Amino acid sequence: MALEFNAVTKRFETNGGVLTAVSDVSFKVDEGEFVAVVGPSGCGKSTLLSMTAGLYQPSEGEVRVSNVPVTGPNSHVGFMLQKDLLLPWRSIVGNIEFGLEARGVGKSERRARAMQELKHCHLDGFERHFPYQLSGGMRQRAALARTLAVDPEIILLDEPFSALDAQTKLLLQNSFAGTIAETGKTTLLITHDLAEAVLMSDRILVLSERPGRIVAEINVDLPHRDQPLKRRVMPEVSAYAAQVFKHLKLEEKAEEVMA
Ligand code: ADP
Repeated sequence: MALEFNAVTKRFETNGGVLTAVSDVSFKVDEGEFVAVVGPSGCGKSTLLSMTAGLYQPSEGEVRVSNVPVTGPNSHVGFMLQKDLLLPWRSIVGNIEFGLEARGVGKSERRARAMQELKHCHLDGFERHFPYQLSGGMRQRAALARTLAVDPEIILLDEPFSALDAQTKLLLQNSFAGTIAETGKTTLLITHDLAEAVLMSDRILVLSERPGRIVAEINVDLPHRDQPLKRRVMPEVSAYAAQVFKHLKLEEKAEEVMA
């Protein structure tokens, strides 16, 4: 099992008392599976990713990555955020090499692995550019390349497309989906965009309002997980989106997407 949450509850101490972010969350993700997590703002989606990455410990329950309990930050998990967090003073290849450098990988192997990921993420020819010279979409591709370069077992994507314009977003979803499918990496994606969840994943976990609990798990039984642009034109996509809206108690939206 690539990832397991067993009865996980997370509470935070705050000035106003104790806040329960997520409550009794259990789910499993198989190796190579792509799972999307959706739910209202503040329901604990990022908290789930942070616990997977070992940045927070559960208050109750257990998180396991590759059958091993997560006790702190570790190299099994690659985390990518909405902001690319590229270092402005380093070239693109230098940015991709950064994590490898921190792990003590030698110079020539570092370069070889970074160049391979550049290619994977369709950035060949841009290795000597600096982040400011790239578009938002290309920068996110560079951030994905950096995440993949350290060869994590699981990739965590926290709203990686939400700051982009609609067209760039579609193209980038397609490019990420293709790259991730090629690597066969287990992936967890947080998104506010329910269509994105349907277009990109094998399965959608729907969380309730805070404290987040899983209210539904929807298997997206459609081909072309590696090509969201192909999925997009399939009539079943709106039926899946409507199912998610219903579980989020957004019935009007469900009727709208089915109209
Ligand atoms: P989401 O990603 O679904 O928007 P989050 O996981 O970011 O939700 O947050 C869930 C709840 O936990 C929110 O109410 C947030 O304010 C609270 N929270 C998150 N991190 C902390 C923290 N470090 N300390 C206190 N409260 C936190």
